[in-house]
Amino acid sequence: MQTHTGGCQCGKVRYEMTGEIGDVLACNCSRCGKLGTLLTFVPAENFKLLSGEDATTEYTFNKGVIHHRFCATCGVESFANGKAPNGAEMIAVNVRCLDDVDIESLNVKKFDGKSY
Ligand SMILES: [Zn+2]
Repeated sequence: MQTHTGGCQCGKVRYEMTGEIGDVLACNCSRCGKLGTLLTFVPAENFKLLSGEDATTEYTFNKGVIHHRFCATCGVESFANGKAPNGAEMIAVNVRCLDDVDIESLNVKKFDGKSY
């Protein structure tokens, strides 16, 4: 499995994730639709926050099941966490915030988050 590193714009939030980045999701919900977030999902155990635990501000909306963690300094939301329908802790990584990923090479799938 591959390890990718990423984080926010100013560098306070840094993390690494392990896993293949397959298709990424472009969600049309009231938040992602505005931000243009492209998402991949990994189990929480495949994600390690290297720095920035205290640097993020959390935002929740709708049913409040996803914790949107954006950097309080630069405002970039590089990841979010929440539970999958089966109860597993998952991390939604904004692949736009990964260091070594060629965004243009990714297969983008549309996700109808607006309907949830
Ligand atoms: Zn930042």
